[in-house]
Amino acid sequence: MQYVERVLEELKTKNPNEPEFHQAATEILNGLKPVIEKHPEYEKAALLERFVEPERVILFRVPWVDDNGAVHVNKGYRVQFNSAIGPYKGGLRFHPSVNLSIIKFLGLEQILKNSLTGLPIGGGKGGSDFDPKGKSDNEIMKFCQSFMTELCRHIGQDTDVPAGDIGVGGREIGYLFGQYKRIRDEHVGVLTGRGLSYGGSLARKEATGYGLVYITEEALKCRKDSFKGKTVIISGSGNVAIYACHKAQSLGAKVVAMYDSNGYIYDKNGIQLDVVKQIKEVERGRIKEYANRVKGAEYHEGCKGIWTIPCDIALPCATQNEIDKASAEILVKNGVKYVGEGANMPSTLEAISVFQKAGVVFLPAKAANAGGVATSALEMAQSSGRLFWSFEEVDAKLKNIMVNIYHNMDEAAKEYGVEGDYVAGANIAGFKKVAEAMMAHGIV
Ligand code: NDP
Repeated sequence: MQYVERVLEELKTKNPNEPEFHQAATEILNGLKPVIEKHPEYEKAALLERFVEPERVILFRVPWVDDNGAVHVNKGYRVQFNSAIGPYKGGLRFHPSVNLSIIKFLGLEQILKNSLTGLPIGGGKGGSDFDPKGKSDNEIMKFCQSFMTELCRHIGQDTDVPAGDIGVGGREIGYLFGQYKRIRDEHVGVLTGRGLSYGGSLARKEATGYGLVYITEEALKCRKDSFKGKTVIISGSGNVAIYACHKAQSLGAKVVAMYDSNGYIYDKNGIQLDVVKQIKEVERGRIKEYANRVKGAEYHEGCKGIWTIPCDIALPCATQNEIDKASAEILVKNGVKYVGEGANMPSTLEAISVFQKAGVVFLPAKAANAGGVATSALEMAQSSGRLFWSFEEVDAKLKNIMVNIYHNMDEAAKEYGVEGDYVAGANIAGFKKVAEAMMAHGIV
């Protein structure tokens, strides 16, 4: 049996009931086949077996007391996946769907994404099955303090530097940082996505969404095209979606639809982003409200329908597996030309195959959404140097990183005979550096 197939089979046997982890590993390892064939020494060193096994998995209890005095217990996770090229780096997700499989898939993806940025950061991911929806500020603070009370013994500015993800934004990072500082008595860059008053970086909030648009813009530019006049669909209405919408609009695109986990809005005149921001960022409300405030806009219950709206560019920015085979087929039938993944693994393996067969330019998450973690690494650099860069400086570095990622994955795909296959290109470009470092470190 071929090396990749054997490793995937063993992974499924050793880690049953982890479908998302199997899905991510299958996508990554299959894309790496051309590299593995060129390097028989990797099999002798069991490189892939080590690559898919986290260096450390931390599972812990998170007890907290709600405003009525009732005691709750959630699960806390931190998967420290790979530190070959730098300290573990990756977000924390607070969502009821969180389990070990999801954290491991995200952690595995993160290794290659972080490597692709060209910056010295390893891969990790964490979170909890805690649901922040409907909780008071005080309950969020209590939960974050309890979560960090345990997590603080496992992280550090040179060891593991978490950040935000779904359900973890500026407010949560603030509470988490406050508790870390209180227990460890250290004001250091142990978390990124921090507020500007206590060590954060300008442009971090915008970075993932902006980065997604920058890399898509480069793909367009290489085909002598641009965002100008294009119809765009963006799923989600959180951090990534909002700033992707902002940048796409500023480049002349018309964003016509967005959603939250209840349903989607369609505004044929183009989404008014200030209304979305007011509802989602300020009021923490439901996107349904948009249709009550903007004349001519429609609201539809459920999310899937968003993909039936004709568009030139689709930017899924909500969550994993939001585009399945059927949705991909409708998008293709309606003429989509570019798909850029803002969320992590938003397309199923079958959906990716539909896009690639139809000649759609498909920009996979680990490249397309790497702008967030890249800017986190820029935040780490500013913390270490006790520096503070201007918005323009950080934004220019971000754009440069995204353009480089595009060309690195494009060249890797060409070098290994799979031109235009950016899934393989991104996996290969990210893996080469990690593999080289792992080989240099010996069997560890
Ligand atoms: P947010 O929590 O800010 O926003 C998430 C958005 O997606 C919300 O609109 C939410 O709706 C919606 N959503 C969540 N789950 C579902 C679901 N099951 N079905 C439909 N909609 C859903 O998260 P982010 O914007 O930070 O993250 C979005 C994605 O981008 C994630 O996959 C994350 O891993 C990825 N990412 C984020 C980065 C960052 O810097 N923030 C960096 C790289 C990747 P509702 O409001 O109803 O909850």
